[in-house]
Amino acid sequence: MKITVIGAGPGGYEAAIMAAKLGAEVTVIEKKEVGGTCLNIGCIPTKTLLASADVLTTSAEAEKFGVFNDHTTANLEQIIERKDKLVSGLVKGIEFLFESNGVNLVRGVGKLIDAKTVEVARSDGEALTLVSDKILLATGSVPICPEMFCYDGEKVITSTEALSLKTLPKSMIVVGGGVIGCELGQFFSRLGTKVTIVEMADQILSAEDESVAKQLLRQLKREKIKVLTANGVTDVKVQDSGVSVTLKKGERLEAEIMLLSIGRSSFSKGLNLEEVGIKVDSRGRIEVDESLETSVKGIYAVGDLINTPYLAHVASKEGIIAAENMLGKNKTGVHKAIPRCVYTDPQVAAVGITEKEAQQRGIVYKVGSFDFRSLGKAQIIAKIQGQVKIIVDEKDVIIGASIIGPEATDLLAELTMAVHLGLTAEVLGEVIHPHPTLSEAIMEALHDVHGKSINK
Ligand code: FAD
Repeated sequence: MKITVIGAGPGGYEAAIMAAKLGAEVTVIEKKEVGGTCLNIGCIPTKTLLASADVLTTSAEAEKFGVFNDHTTANLEQIIERKDKLVSGLVKGIEFLFESNGVNLVRGVGKLIDAKTVEVARSDGEALTLVSDKILLATGSVPICPEMFCYDGEKVITSTEALSLKTLPKSMIVVGGGVIGCELGQFFSRLGTKVTIVEMADQILSAEDESVAKQLLRQLKREKIKVLTANGVTDVKVQDSGVSVTLKKGERLEAEIMLLSIGRSSFSKGLNLEEVGIKVDSRGRIEVDESLETSVKGIYAVGDLINTPYLAHVASKEGIIAAENMLGKNKTGVHKAIPRCVYTDPQVAAVGITEKEAQQRGIVYKVGSFDFRSLGKAQIIAKIQGQVKIIVDEKDVIIGASIIGPEATDLLAELTMAVHLGLTAEVLGEVIHPHPTLSEAIMEALHDVHGKSINK
């Protein structure tokens, strides 16, 4: 079986390796670096920068631990250099995996000719035609930059440029208080930039639990980040000195730089979808069935290109499942429990439904919660802010969970498993959790569902 994959982000590269492991002859076409958005300009670079900010904050608070560190400073250039090195090491890692699994990597831009043929404009100027049994589209997404925001990549930037700034801006307006806006806003603020976040919705992280979003908001304000919710940008002027912005409620803001983080859109430009007959929805996302096959038999699509959450772990999972299905399996139900993570400090992580959604859907539910403050481990590491909140339905099945606090994104794995497997709070609450660890907060919240938390 011959398979051609267009795009080597987490969706495409994991699909390619899985297909090769299952015996297919695989060619991947990639126009930039392997690893896609996630590795080059997304998950990994942002979290690497945040790790530096974390060290800075912890060093600045070292006295709390009886440790004295009088000269804590941060150097953006070196932080970016560390990030670039780390990313290029991981890029090489994927190239090595391709090699060791016999995946053929072609550098260039791919486009569909028909259900079996892909034409490649290779980076070396040559043209190549590939005929295969199955094709996987995994070309990802790009930042949304409406014209009125005057994006120029210098004064008005997206996350892509923000990850490689040469100098630290004195001030920054962040448009969009979602995951990327909060993460990068807090990073630059911690390094010394005066940050203002403007968010259209009533709360930052608009998809998340209200109380969790409020707690994060309080923390951002404590760090002197100005957050304007239920507001929007109506006019933008770019001058030599910086950016001047008018807001819906009449205020004017000025800053050296404006960061646009208002979402991403699926990227299928130049793929020839219409000519081949692949259906897309009104927002340009490719329509797929449960097995991730498009409206054209034999062509599959995954990741940010389709109508599922724009997350790397979703793209990877879909890539693996699509590879299995292309090779004759019939796997469905990929999206049962999707973890959502925000790597701010404190971190935010959630899975399943929020309390508000439960109310809106008329679900009979109960909530169990536990504050990190009451936990030995949280006191030990001096990270006592936040809580675990678990939602169960009338049969005690865990249908949602939100965590705000230390290592929330790692802690969520247990609750993601619970939602995926349909576990009850009683069953999961019987599991012994190690002491002293942050995971005890989950155990206590599970016990709290039945009013039996010992330490609450
Ligand atoms: P992509 O990773 O976008 O890869 C698509 C690839 O296709 C690219 O390499 C592109 O060059 C290539 N390509 C496009 N067109 C063609 C063509 N015609 N021919 C050849 N190649 C082509 N997600 C998380 O889960 N956790 C996070 O912490 C997280 N943080 C993020 C932070 C930022 C700043 C951003 C921007 C995103 C973040 N994401 C995060 C989202 C995550 O990066 C994406 O969901 C993920 O990369 C999508 O994977 P993909 O394979 O669908 O597409």
